[in-house]
Amino acid sequence: MKVMKFGGTSVGSAERIKEMTKLIVRGGRKIVVLSAMSGTTNNLVEIVNYLYKKNHDGANEIINRLVKKYNKEIDLLYTTEEYKAQARELVRYHFNYIKSFITDVFTVFEEKTILAQGELLSTAMVNFYLKEQGYNSELLPALDFMRINKNNEPDTSYIKNNLKDLLADYSDVEIFITQGYICRNAFGEVDNLQRGGSDYSASLIGVAVDADNIQIWTDIDGMHNNDPRYVENTSSIAEMSFDEAAELAYFGAKILHPTSVLPAKLANIPVKLLNTMEPDAPGTTISEKESHNRITAVAAKDNITAIRIKSGRMLLAYGFLRKVFEIFESYKTPIDMITTSEVGVSVTIDDSKHIDDIVDDLKKFGTVEVDPGQVIICVVGDLVRENKGYANKIFNALKEIPVRMISYGGSDHNISLLVSSEHKKDALNALSSKLFNN
Ligand code: ASP
Ligand code: MG
Repeated sequence: MKVMKFGGTSVGSAERIKEMTKLIVRGGRKIVVLSAMSGTTNNLVEIVNYLYKKNHDGANEIINRLVKKYNKEIDLLYTTEEYKAQARELVRYHFNYIKSFITDVFTVFEEKTILAQGELLSTAMVNFYLKEQGYNSELLPALDFMRINKNNEPDTSYIKNNLKDLLADYSDVEIFITQGYICRNAFGEVDNLQRGGSDYSASLIGVAVDADNIQIWTDIDGMHNNDPRYVENTSSIAEMSFDEAAELAYFGAKILHPTSVLPAKLANIPVKLLNTMEPDAPGTTISEKESHNRITAVAAKDNITAIRIKSGRMLLAYGFLRKVFEIFESYKTPIDMITTSEVGVSVTIDDSKHIDDIVDDLKKFGTVEVDPGQVIICVVGDLVRENKGYANKIFNALKEIPVRMISYGGSDHNISLLVSSEHKKDALNALSSKLFNN
């Protein structure tokens, strides 16, 4: 069994669904995990926001626009009147359901139900198309097996058992289609794995069925060694380790959602990043195999806020860092980078929702400086301490760039540097030319 995940663009139009189907029907038993049509989840979020504000006209306008868009693709996708009618009925049903929430009470429960409709639609449409084309495919409802527990963590044994039972009912079926992103929570309500969560679904499903591999299909030939939006001449990386992939996904590589790496790593199931435009190209294989003697890739994470706390009281004191970290903990705000000196500590955060409260609390300990608009440049590779020369190469590449923080030694795979966002492009290009292109 293998797992193939396709994102919103791959199901974004009739034309793309037809192209994707050619890949799905190639040999072997598989579970296909799909996102909503591109743009749909964003539109559903807009509908939800209107409904919270009781702006029913706003919600209706988007719903009507979506119905039109779906019906247009339906006309292009199916050849027979029978399937066109079925698909139109499907669209009518889901959007009428969404409209049924245009009443007085609107809570997070209704919100999550609305957000789930995009994946329910895309998977049913693709399944209809496979049937129309004469394939023996089956829809596996994610709401019947995908579940999170009270801590919002996947309930892995529930997922495994339920998926096994569902699959056992269809021993003759080769192609299963299921929804990414959506799940039930500990109370059995409709919920989701957060935005971009379809990759996570694919990974959890791959682990649950002990898949040969988990394939994430996109429009690019795998993970690149630098960000192609800012740097020319980047190249695809054939192989990398789970740890490297986790760092790169977290620190900015858009191709893979960061949560999807850990389950695959724990179960040791390779993840393949493949290109729908070039289906037979090798792409990137992420596995337990460590890379040796190389810098693998560079990525950048935007919208970082740096906070520096300077205090004479930190000198020779113990317990100072704990007090600082407890403040971040109390606002549920994760810290990405840390550097310390004897009289100060700098940290970075990605989520600056509670920044004002955090800064107020930190002022008890010393003077606090806040710099928004920073970027973490993350260099990933074989950076075990025995390896000489890499740090020098990196710093040499950045010799013209003002660097605000450096974090090295936290793992064997990563050096992180903080620069102001205006220097991001130059930093990425400088690293590219000194590390990869010479
Ligand atoms: N459709 C969801 C989103 O747009 C999940 C996904 O595509 O991964 O966030
Ligand atoms: Mg995605």
